[in-house]
Amino acid sequence: MDDSAPRYYSYASYMRHTFGSRMQKLSIDAGFTCPNRDGTLSKTGCTFCNNTAFNPSYCHTDSQSPLRVVKPIAQQIDDGIAFHSVRYRNSGGYLAYFQAYSNTYAPLTLLRQRYEQALSHPQVRGIIIGTRPDCIDDEKLDYLAHLAKQHYVAVEYGIESCYDETLRRINRGHDFATTCHAIRLTARRGLHCGGHLIIGLPGEQHDAILDEAKMINDLPLDSIKLHQLQVLRDTTLAQQVAEGSIILPRIDLDDYISLVCDFVERLRPTIAIERFAGEVPPRYQAMPDRAWRHPDGRYVRNEQIAPMIVAELSRRGTRQGDKIQSEYSD
Ligand code: SF4
Repeated sequence: MDDSAPRYYSYASYMRHTFGSRMQKLSIDAGFTCPNRDGTLSKTGCTFCNNTAFNPSYCHTDSQSPLRVVKPIAQQIDDGIAFHSVRYRNSGGYLAYFQAYSNTYAPLTLLRQRYEQALSHPQVRGIIIGTRPDCIDDEKLDYLAHLAKQHYVAVEYGIESCYDETLRRINRGHDFATTCHAIRLTARRGLHCGGHLIIGLPGEQHDAILDEAKMINDLPLDSIKLHQLQVLRDTTLAQQVAEGSIILPRIDLDDYISLVCDFVERLRPTIAIERFAGEVPPRYQAMPDRAWRHPDGRYVRNEQIAPMIVAELSRRGTRQGDKIQSEYSD
């Protein structure tokens, strides 16, 4: 292969191929909740979850208030465009990203209203719906497939782990079979299907994480986000680590880069990788001493991780998927 060929299939190149230009995602909080928060499955949520940490301030009327008062969707979009246009002037358009909580967890009439409010904005070219795999059904997917005849529509599932034991440990409230079923139902309708996987969950070691790449490869997934496990304030996980009921080995940045490169080498090359790590404002870190920092003390920013992955893959002379064949032929 030409040595200048990309080391991995980036989500940015998938976007350029799909839309012909760079697209900017605008996070939307549509005011939904989730069955793992409202008492249907539990009230405590997934052990790692602090949804506030991932929500941009422009979604809410008062970002400092503990009350979650969301702005009308059109206003969130306008404010999001104003926010992003300062940093990214060359965006070819915007995608409304229904990010907070579980965005298919409501009656279809309400979902339609929220999605169509976003799609009626003149600068929005599509929607991306983040949700849990147990919050989708044929009726909702049929509606989304109908919507996708006129707009870009993607569904992004929180996979988090491919192991039922881990899913129980993090109080996820569903198993991996449910994830596989939801992804297959979604892909069968031709909708873009994305997934979110957390690296470093309690009990998962190096080989178990690499085996997840094989399980992900077997699913009809189009894109994936990888996140390191972060211990955030006001979470069950922070409490468990503080009281010692969960021991989390520290993963240094070099080890994480190496592990993710191992994973990428085993990942199907047709799965676009949207991100390699997550980032929250430092005030949400329950264990700031574990956050990755440069030698001068500055925090390592999210956008600095991808170049490190590329540098390591270049050093190894490998690319996404290179280890799939060799493992099968061993
Ligand atoms: S991570 Fe998602 S599914 Fe889990 S508690 Fe938080 S909002 Fe609910």
